[in-house]
Amino acid sequence: MTRKVRTRIAPSPTGFLHLGTARTALFSWAFARHHGGDFILRVEDTDEARSTQEAVDQIIAAMKWLNLDHDEGPFFQMQRIERYREVIGQMLEAGSAYLCYCTPAEVDAMREAQRARGDKPRYDGRWRPEPGKALPPVPDGVRPVVRFRNPVDGVVTWVDMVKGPISISNGELDDLVIARPSADASSAIGTPTYNFCVVVDDWDMQISHVIRGDDHVNNTPRQINILRALGAELPVYAHVPMILGPDGDKLSKRHGAVSVTEYEDAGYLPEAMLNYLARLGWSHGDEEIFSREQLVGWFDGQHLAKSPAQWDAAKLNWVNAHYVKGMPDDVLAGHVALRFASRGIEVTADERLARMCAVFKDRCATTVELAEWLTMYFVHIEPREEDLTMHVTEAIQPALRDLRDRLADTEWSKVALAAAIKAVITQHGIKMPQLAHAVRVLVCGRAQTPSIDAVLELFSREVVIARLSAG
Ligand code: GLU
Repeated sequence: MTRKVRTRIAPSPTGFLHLGTARTALFSWAFARHHGGDFILRVEDTDEARSTQEAVDQIIAAMKWLNLDHDEGPFFQMQRIERYREVIGQMLEAGSAYLCYCTPAEVDAMREAQRARGDKPRYDGRWRPEPGKALPPVPDGVRPVVRFRNPVDGVVTWVDMVKGPISISNGELDDLVIARPSADASSAIGTPTYNFCVVVDDWDMQISHVIRGDDHVNNTPRQINILRALGAELPVYAHVPMILGPDGDKLSKRHGAVSVTEYEDAGYLPEAMLNYLARLGWSHGDEEIFSREQLVGWFDGQHLAKSPAQWDAAKLNWVNAHYVKGMPDDVLAGHVALRFASRGIEVTADERLARMCAVFKDRCATTVELAEWLTMYFVHIEPREEDLTMHVTEAIQPALRDLRDRLADTEWSKVALAAAIKAVITQHGIKMPQLAHAVRVLVCGRAQTPSIDAVLELFSREVVIARLSAG
């Protein structure tokens, strides 16, 4: 019988949704959708000192923005502590876990001595029960940790969906601490540790495929051993290589924006982000641009790259520009209105804004750039002195005056505006760029724009005449 595909994303809310976690979420989501399975959101918030509600909210908002919908959750580990304690209680009873009364100072001394002998530091098993072994007397006033009784012999092997077969000898693994005394001493078992909570969650949530960053490879043999001790069915593991920055180091703040929210604010579209992230460490032939539906259709867990992918801001811009161009103008107008709103400029996403998007979108990689271009339609502009000096010369003034007069009663359409401009340049014997540049500087505040008739049509007659008069 094959298992129902159930994947999860398990972010730690110690910061905003990192691009690497977003990509893992995307892979997990796409794999579940491809197989008609479930995708689960689990918040790993046991690091109480560093977890914040703000980060939880941001992570959930970023997942929503990327449209990675989950079927179950969000589950919070802090709400499941009793469940972890219950499982630890059962393991203590079954003998797959035991109490260890070594104090932290003793453990340190043990490690120190091992290092001094040239051995690898590891827990020496002094509290590990063995048949016929006498355990030390329980010391007074020491609250024990709980350790997992890791098998001593044999090898843990799994076939990683990305990396292929991986084997780790049990001799390399010591007895993992699965609970530490709680600060408040409220529970005999204490506070379960991270690696243990993950195991119980993956078991309880019936996760069939664990897709995660390869910084977790080292945790996997321990997690597998615990799952086996619990009699749980093992998930398939897929450890995805990290995303690297342009300098080959792990992508971090040092390289620029690394949270999904920052990209949203910078005017990237969720479809483009999804498309770009999917190609970081996964491919389907030579396909670079594909829809969410195509991704789901193709994402069967094959073709995940073994080597790390490198972040490429220029490529992301190229992908985003493609989506900006391809987006229906009325939808794009909604995105641009949001960008204006975040700058405190109130702009309605109406038919006029959609027409503006149509005229300018070809030259923009992001909706922020597009809003930047369109600002001239909504706020007062101040042409730069050097543009005025260069383009709005004495020689062009008569032509500008004539144009202004004509525009006072020209029909307000692109065709009629083009005809008026043409008539003025013919009448004055000047070249198109001379007049067009001067008009652009005065009306738009910049010397380069798309076709001047299309740009002017989207202003009101009053604004154009007023701005031309200011020159
Ligand atoms: N909370 C872990 C992280 O953010 C994920 C652990 C896992 O996927 O098993 O890296």
